[in-house]
Amino acid sequence: MTGTTDLAEAVCADDGRLEGVDLRVLAQRLGTPLHVYSAPAIGARIRALQTALRGQDALICYAVKANSNLAVLGLMADAGLGADIVSAGELQRSLRAGIPAGRIVFSGVAKSADEIGDALAAGIGRFNVESKDELRLLQDVAAARGAVARASVRVNPDVDALTHAKISTGKSENKFGVGIDEAREWFADSTRLTHVRLDGLHVHIGSQMLCLDPIQLALQRVAALWRELTSSGYAINSIDVGGGLGVRYRDGQDQPVSVQDYAEVIRKTLDGFGGRILLEPGRWLVAEAGFLLTRVLRIKQGRQRRFLVVDAAMTELVRPSLYDAWHEIVPILRRPLPPQIYDVVGPVCESSDTFAVDRQLPPCEPGDLLMIKTTGAYGAAMASNYNSRPLAVEVLLERGRYAVVRRRQTLEEMIAGEQPARNWECA
Ligand SMILES: *Cc1c(COP(=O)(O)O)cnc(C)c1O
Repeated sequence: MTGTTDLAEAVCADDGRLEGVDLRVLAQRLGTPLHVYSAPAIGARIRALQTALRGQDALICYAVKANSNLAVLGLMADAGLGADIVSAGELQRSLRAGIPAGRIVFSGVAKSADEIGDALAAGIGRFNVESKDELRLLQDVAAARGAVARASVRVNPDVDALTHAKISTGKSENKFGVGIDEAREWFADSTRLTHVRLDGLHVHIGSQMLCLDPIQLALQRVAALWRELTSSGYAINSIDVGGGLGVRYRDGQDQPVSVQDYAEVIRKTLDGFGGRILLEPGRWLVAEAGFLLTRVLRIKQGRQRRFLVVDAAMTELVRPSLYDAWHEIVPILRRPLPPQIYDVVGPVCESSDTFAVDRQLPPCEPGDLLMIKTTGAYGAAMASNYNSRPLAVEVLLERGRYAVVRRRQTLEEMIAGEQPARNWECA
């Protein structure tokens, strides 16, 4: 894939260095668990996608939920990207990071009146509307503010994204979007919308897609709707093709699609479209640029299994527990000894706090540093304080230097807002 750095190779070749930064020194100074992100790797992905889209009127709206660290959002802002948000919190993060409101699109099935009000006040570019009820609410909130909201209907094209069921969103049984028939009705009724300008279509069928066929099928259905609506006299100014491009979690198994082929599918299926195309990639931009560093606490030989107990947990990376996701695990120091079979587990009191089962690794010892790969997306963003574990440090790397972009949470920060039940009130 053009413009992408193979970070795994960089790490192996350079003896525990990533972007020229010694990961052992980093772990020593900042402690573990520790998330690191390569700024050049994220930049390379952004440029590769921008290059592939050259010649199309396209705006990349980064899906903030994949990694919402302000410094990561800052990289997106600097590169001219917009944001795809799903909450008022993501709105505020995006604005603080310097993403212009006009480049922000608001998706999600459960936008509240307050969130819609905040987004209108900020002047965001567009709402991706997911239900008739939400469309009415958008109209009401916009009317009350004397504003006009630009809106797209999120179409559920009933396409199987051929990915994990928990990250599939475009089948008719999923909670997202509305069927094509209902979308048609919205436009037929749209003259009644005094404060909503319904002039766009949106589709997002799932995540971690490693095949273009479902994307193409979904876009074909959306394109057919666009053509039909246009010939019926409705103006369609925006088509949002969603996100969902998959990444390589497992070498030799996951084959990501080429970004050129992806851009070509968009170009072909939307051929003749004169409006603006929006894209909402999340994972593809950041996943492979992120690594979770963790230290081996001990090796526990069970009756049946050998456990490598590490100091990272499902609280820093929940994907293995949530989706049985595979993440490559690499010891920084590789002893030239025959490999061992381990279950790699964290400290949290859940059996699902397991990063890998029956994983073959070079023999490890307590104190060894391990790198869990491809954790830049849906890693820190899905963190929790379960078991009262503080949120981990996050660090951005570039050209031999690093910047802490989130310091480790302190106990005081973790319990801030909690208090004894002293001030009882009646309701
Ligand atoms: C999650 C999501 C995305 C991003 O998905 P990725 O698989 O991370 O690219 C884009 N759009 C919407 C509406 C989403 O919910």
